[in-house]
Amino acid sequence: MNGTAHRHKKRFGQNFLRDRNIVERILSAAALDPGDRVVEIGPGMGALTDPMLSLAGEVHILEIDRELAARWRERPEANLRVHEGDALDLDWPRFLTTPPYKMVANLPYNISSQVLFKILDHRELFSRLVLMFQKEVGERLCAGPGSRDYGILSVLCQLWFDIRRVTPVKPGSFYPPPKVDSVVLSFEPLASARVPVEDWMGFRRTVKAAFGQRRKSLRNALTGGGWSVAQAEEALRASGIDPSRRAETLSLDEFARLSRQLGAPPSGRD
Ligand code: SAM
Repeated sequence: MNGTAHRHKKRFGQNFLRDRNIVERILSAAALDPGDRVVEIGPGMGALTDPMLSLAGEVHILEIDRELAARWRERPEANLRVHEGDALDLDWPRFLTTPPYKMVANLPYNISSQVLFKILDHRELFSRLVLMFQKEVGERLCAGPGSRDYGILSVLCQLWFDIRRVTPVKPGSFYPPPKVDSVVLSFEPLASARVPVEDWMGFRRTVKAAFGQRRKSLRNALTGGGWSVAQAEEALRASGIDPSRRAETLSLDEFARLSRQLGAPPSGRD
């Protein structure tokens, strides 16, 4: 991007991509063409944004850093839409009015989980997502049952998306280099949920409660979601799941059966 040098801000997770090979791999996974509309969280200095402005029909950027957002507003490209603010607070459907969109982002690591929860709630907006994560978070997203990495976001994301590793990324690919390794993942939306889920909020509540106390047996862990031990045991048995099992051993299908049996907790909390 043109203009005076930008002092990177640590509080905004500003590790700018400077490795052309990684940029190429991200863009190739996104497979952009002029018919595409793209959303990028955190354009920064434009390592991804600049090529995307040439490749895609419309590019929406969400930038929290006022200084950077002001620079982007000065850009002449007619297909650029600048949205200043916290991507977590911005009302996506208000300006993403013509889905589907592709999301491409080198996410600030401190907000990646919250961004994923927001993506899940607005999943109908997206036809593909290519996102950079801290390596450990990437491992969790790809993990299956029985793995220590398997958790809430693995289950919720795998319910709606096919997740694929695009490329590992070393700290030296950024300036300044972060302390951790990274990985780029691509998310392809499935035509329908991987296993039948009638009540998404209920499914989310069940998975969150089950992993909320992941070292406990499910009969005890589920009390964190507002169900009694007796209710949890009954629902687990009705779903064919041994109540002494732990969340990390359950398949998506088992979570779906369990949430169906549990229904809403008596306290009605979410
Ligand atoms: N895309 C650029 C690149 O790859 O070089 C910058 C990536 S840098 C890891 C993260 C970017 O997200 C920065 O531009 C930062 O200012 C911005 N950012 C951080 N927190 C944000 C938030 N909550 N909402 C929107 N943008 C945010």
